[in-house]
Amino acid sequence: MGEQVARSEGEGAGDPLTLPVQYCKGVGPTRARMLARLGIESVADLLEHFPRRYEDRAHLKPISQAVHGELETLQGVVTGVQELRPRRGLVITKVGVTDGMGTAWGVWFNQPYVARQFKPGTRVIISGRVERRYSQVQVTNPAYEVFDGEDFLHTGRIVPIYPLTEGLNARAFRSLMKSAVDAYAPSLREVLPAGVRERQRLMGRSDAYRAIHFPDRDDELKEARRRLAFEELFCLQLGLAVLKSIQQHEELGVSHPPDGELTARLLEGLPFSLTGAQWRVYGEIRRDMESPRPMHRLIQGDVGSGKTVLAALAILKAVWGGHQAALMAPTEILAEQHFRNLGQLLSEVGVPAVLLSGSQSRRAREEILAAIAARQAGLVVGTHALISDEVRFADLSLVVVDEQHRFGVRQRARLKDKGPTPDVLVMTATPIPRTLALTLYGDLDLSVLDELPPGRRPIKTAWYGGDQRRRAYSVIREQVALGRQAYVVCPLIEESEKLAAQAATELAEQLRSEIFPDLRVGLLHGRLSTEERDEAVAAFRGGQTQVLVSTTVVEVGVDVPNATVMVIEGAERFGLAQLHQLRGRVGRGSEQSYCVLVANPSSEEARERMLVMQRTSDGFAIAEEDLRLRGPGEFFGTRQHGLPDLKLADPVRDLPMLEVARREAFEVVDGDTRLALPEHRGLREQVLRRFRENLGMILVG
Ligand code: ADP
Ligand code: MG
Repeated sequence: MGEQVARSEGEGAGDPLTLPVQYCKGVGPTRARMLARLGIESVADLLEHFPRRYEDRAHLKPISQAVHGELETLQGVVTGVQELRPRRGLVITKVGVTDGMGTAWGVWFNQPYVARQFKPGTRVIISGRVERRYSQVQVTNPAYEVFDGEDFLHTGRIVPIYPLTEGLNARAFRSLMKSAVDAYAPSLREVLPAGVRERQRLMGRSDAYRAIHFPDRDDELKEARRRLAFEELFCLQLGLAVLKSIQQHEELGVSHPPDGELTARLLEGLPFSLTGAQWRVYGEIRRDMESPRPMHRLIQGDVGSGKTVLAALAILKAVWGGHQAALMAPTEILAEQHFRNLGQLLSEVGVPAVLLSGSQSRRAREEILAAIAARQAGLVVGTHALISDEVRFADLSLVVVDEQHRFGVRQRARLKDKGPTPDVLVMTATPIPRTLALTLYGDLDLSVLDELPPGRRPIKTAWYGGDQRRRAYSVIREQVALGRQAYVVCPLIEESEKLAAQAATELAEQLRSEIFPDLRVGLLHGRLSTEERDEAVAAFRGGQTQVLVSTTVVEVGVDVPNATVMVIEGAERFGLAQLHQLRGRVGRGSEQSYCVLVANPSSEEARERMLVMQRTSDGFAIAEEDLRLRGPGEFFGTRQHGLPDLKLADPVRDLPMLEVARREAFEVVDGDTRLALPEHRGLREQVLRRFRENLGMILVG
């Protein structure tokens, strides 16, 4: 290890940031273990453990002017130390400090060791909440620092407050960070291209790392944060730009022939004509598919905007060209539903489709695999397991991904192992704000399906408290009397599908025996066998059951235009995106539809969710609200997409910066697709480090 370090320092090769954290002064094996609990393993991790907040302890107040109840920082000379033991088990340490005009008392409970730090006559600074009692100024448990001629660290400055772990207190951690910053920040090399730094007027890297931890002034802190946030966003966009550039310039895909007879037949057979938005987006897909460059396109479209027919058109185009298509869904149930919907559309024009599912027998599976390899299947539907090594396509030219935000960078990269790079079409049912799209799908082209099929009426949404459940059921009664159908969704039980199934079963029983003894009530949940599920959905579709009680499995794919009511029990337990998806099961025909949220929200945030649902049915607006209510951290889940964590940048708040970073990043990559130029070496290291293994196969080698 030592040898390696010496060599890399000698040649100026490795970034010192990649060294294990034990290289830092004050970090031995025990501390290293504690730091590991905070996710800190390298020097870089330590330097990137940014303060949670700062306390301004820079402004010294004369003691006589200290205000009761305020956080104040006071300076003076120690006049004396008293130790009081008013009763067993209680030690009070009082330290008197004077600045000539006034005296303040620092008070500690049961921390007798602090007494040793305060020798009468030494100069100290204490910070904390001031109490004025009688004419005495007192600060309980203050932050303190004994003045020893060095710079102040724990007070007398803008002090960083760090997220901590057990066993490491604030003072110890701050001291440790100070020595790490002193030792490593000055030798950090600049990684941003000079042009970018100048144009964006960004602080140097070394300065920024010092100043984010130990800022001298507020404006310096702001600039440090801006510089480092920019670096995060820039590296993120660089990685995405590299992916996109390689896809566009280096990979050879399939040039599909112009549309032919199959497409015409499918369009003629539809009971409707395409909306303007569907035509426009299909035009974009068609252009991509006919070009020899692989398509990487994301379609955003609200629930019910008609993405299925677009998928069908793309699949037909692949098959018309003599190739195969795959459709990947996030869950088995969804795969089955796609298989049913698309399979039917395609079979009408004579395109054979197969379903590959985890619940098939070994034998059935082998037969299907053989059919895929022998080109007998035009479309293969399944979960993400479709890109497993076992599945061999004869000639795969299109992959449609029905995305529930789960198809990451790495999976996309894996597709390339399957032969010439297939065209990729990602469809998201949850519309996401543009900011998020730029972040998560920055390497994809974006199409927005921003028009609903004609004749849709906005769904009327009501919110009733739990005690008004009967009112919800009376809405069902009215609609059923008109010949329509209803869904009743059970409260969300995320922990266990088994419990969810139980709850649904009980609710169905209760509705059958007590509420709707005269109606036919169906039941749908994830623990049913495939056949039972098919039966339940078919009976509802055919109108044999009038009320369908379901868990969230009904969330996607089930398409019964005659259903006009959806009652969601325990609606406060669902997130906005999920509520919106659920509600999207109604309002699919031309009749007025209704959604009833039965909810007793216990938090303000949950209450707001109900109000948002009542106020709007626009998926994009709901996605924006979702982002606002949940905050970007939870919403993004960048890790699961194989994207780097954002520690300082917030893609929502920093949207303008994100857009600038994106432009600059794409420009860099335009001139240097793999960041291979010597002047981009530092950048490349940063991008690789941040993307971890997800870009490794592309950038290394
Ligand atoms: P999504 O997958 O985007 O949620 P679907 O593709 O399931 O939406 O379409 C929702 C419903 O709208 C389906 O019943 C579908 O047949 C119908 N539909 C799709 N496009 C049109 C259109 N252009 N005109 C009328 N109905 C349409
Ligand atoms: Mg759909």
